[in-house]
Amino acid sequence: MSSITLRDIRKTYANGPRVLHGVDLDIGDGEFVVIVGPSGCGKSTLLRLIAGLERCDDGEIVIDGRRANALPPQDRDIAMIFQNYALYPHMSVLENIAFGLELRKVPRKTREARARAVAETLQLTPYLDRKPGALSGGQRQRVAMGRAMARETSTFLMDEPLSNLDNALRNTMRTEIKTIHQQLGATIVFVTHDQTEALSLADRIAVMKDGYLQQFDTPAAIYDRP
Ligand code: ADP
Ligand code: ADP
Repeated sequence: MSSITLRDIRKTYANGPRVLHGVDLDIGDGEFVVIVGPSGCGKSTLLRLIAGLERCDDGEIVIDGRRANALPPQDRDIAMIFQNYALYPHMSVLENIAFGLELRKVPRKTREARARAVAETLQLTPYLDRKPGALSGGQRQRVAMGRAMARETSTFLMDEPLSNLDNALRNTMRTEIKTIHQQLGATIVFVTHDQTEALSLADRIAVMKDGYLQQFDTPAAIYDRP
């Protein structure tokens, strides 16, 4: 179960201009929200604030009804997937998938069993002993998904997770993400600049511009308006 509420979120990086100018966003439990907007408008920053990887200067982040502004990332029960996958090159596929559990002090046997089960779902079993450098882009992307899924969280933040994949793989992974959303009843916040992805995945689309939220509505309302 997971709902996310942002109230009047403001963020300025050290020595930089203000990046977020007061963003309000209500994401319901089990909702698939896609954030779109031009490069530099603050999409990644917003995700990193929800994940706890950055702190906001002002405003409130509420996760499951609890104020989360000061919660460290490992206590938020949220898994983030990055555009460049952020895998550890010296670790095997199995170790990469299990890594998030290690941080959370899950016992080794349990970690491995869970990582193997997730790898099976994502058809990664033949590659468990390989290092990321010996995998294709699509396989790496699956490992990154696997690491997030092994956490058994139902909240996923995805920062352009498909943009480094070729067209065919992108379509496959899009379907896979949709399946994960439906099967787990997951809450997903997904950043993209691809309109096809936004249209096919989103329950609601958040349109950002220059650090503001411009629109937050269904795909039909946003793209089909005359
Ligand atoms: P988007 O994801 O929409 O491309 P970002 O959130 O990555 O936007 O970036 C918004 C703005 O903040 C950009 O101008 C970017 O250069 C700046 N920015 C992002 N991260 C940092 C950082 N760690 N330090 C300083 N400026 C940053
Ligand atoms: P995005 O795909 O979100 O546009 P960028 O390529 O802008 O990402 O940024 C990649 C990384 O660099 C991010 O971790 C971001 O925090 C950092 N970054 C972006 N802009 C700046 C900046 N002006 N100063 C410092 N770090 C930055």
